[in-house]
Amino acid sequence: MKIGILAIQGDFELHRKALTSLSVDSLFVRSSKDLDNIRALILPGGESTTMSLLMNKFDLFNSIKKFSNNFNLFGTCAGAILMSADSGDRRVKNLGVIDVFSKRNSWGAQIDSFSDFINLNKDEILSDKFYATFIRGPRFSKVSKDCKIIGHYKNDPVLIRNDKHLISSFHPEIGKDLSVYKYFINMINE
Ligand code: GLN
Repeated sequence: MKIGILAIQGDFELHRKALTSLSVDSLFVRSSKDLDNIRALILPGGESTTMSLLMNKFDLFNSIKKFSNNFNLFGTCAGAILMSADSGDRRVKNLGVIDVFSKRNSWGAQIDSFSDFINLNKDEILSDKFYATFIRGPRFSKVSKDCKIIGHYKNDPVLIRNDKHLISSFHPEIGKDLSVYKYFINMINE
């Protein structure tokens, strides 16, 4: 199985490193042709406004949307913003593959970045704690009934899935715990 990583802007290298540690092949996706060769796609953190522009420029928006009908997406931070239904920012073109509102930069500015333990739903992931890093992440709200909250930080949902797709407001590629990737790989195999 090969997992694609959208590699037009942002933190894509560390996702490859995480997948390699799990012996999963990866492919940097930079054109719609690349989507033919992968089984799932990770949309990394970065800047959702810039990624929106580049997705248009490289003709990736419509092809990723089409890909998401049959295959799994995992969006982290900016990637989650792109995947959500709306983020209240006209500069962001939302794919709308998961029915959640994401408010950008909701945990503060770059200088307010932090790491802390989040609580995971133990029925879904074996361990109930995950040490998560937040860097100008989105806050999720208006989570639709077809979604399941897999992780919370205090009262906020920070890891959410629907039938096929997963979003996190934090950066699972930072740190040594690969349990969120393992969870996504299980989703692919469901
Ligand atoms: N604040 C960024 C955005 O709105 C996301 C930050 C990140 O991905 N670390 O796109």
